[in-house]
Amino acid sequence: MTYVVLMGGPGAGKGTQAKILCKKLGLPQIATGDLFRENLRENTELGQLARTYMNGGDLVPDEVTVGMVKERLSRPDCANGALLDGFPRTISQADALETLLAEMDERVHIVPYIHVNPDLLLQRLAGRWTCSACGRVYHVLFNPPKQDGICDLDGSALYQRDDDTAETQKHRIAVYFKQTAPLLDYYKNKGLLVEINGEQSIEQVQKELLQVIKESDRQRTD
Ligand code: ADP
Ligand code: ADP
Repeated sequence: MTYVVLMGGPGAGKGTQAKILCKKLGLPQIATGDLFRENLRENTELGQLARTYMNGGDLVPDEVTVGMVKERLSRPDCANGALLDGFPRTISQADALETLLAEMDERVHIVPYIHVNPDLLLQRLAGRWTCSACGRVYHVLFNPPKQDGICDLDGSALYQRDDDTAETQKHRIAVYFKQTAPLLDYYKNKGLLVEINGEQSIEQVQKELLQVIKESDRQRTD
């Protein structure tokens, strides 16, 4: 069993890393932002609830988010654990996650924190393009696709997220520092936080993440 909570500000590279890590570790990626966007696309009740918060760059209320994660964690593909990307984002969500996992006799095992300075976070968000089919993210300067506007993996069109406007990006970073950054101390106090320098190449960050997760697995099975 491995439960990983991947932390980092908006644009730190959580999604980029989570997609590769999950393949390598055989764990499902639970990305609350992606789940909300799926609900927006399908115009479900949950999507309608989340829309205004997301478009404004604010957090969706905790009850809604926790309910969605609870349902997701109960699915069979989470039998060996999961990698959480973008959840928890508040202390109250972290407490709720602890309770959810405790009900399954489980707990969070490791919290890698991808650290990137705020000015770089903004540059990362400003150049982010996402594949409309597979969700893979690119960056116009730092990680461009082979062909402009087209996903390398499946040839689908890339798009810029509705909440990736200059104004919302700044707001999301501020929301992160106010509501989510306190979680760093929360997990540090539990001895779970491991900081990774996110201002390195995607490959180097990946290598270090894999190392710390495998090391934590090893310590538990020894
Ligand atoms: P980013 O990749 O820029 O960090 P996400 O895709 O993780 O953004 O999230 C996009 C939006 O979805 C957030 O701004 C917020 O409105 C909503 N959201 C995602 N995860 C959560 C969460 N754990 N709690 C509340 N809202 C969330
Ligand atoms: P998050 O999920 O944390 O919001 P993303 O994975 O969506 O972050 O990455 C944000 C942007 O930064 C994307 O455009 C991505 O291509 C780019 N990016 C991610 N990691 C790196 C890196 N190590 N170096 C340069 N650019 C990166």
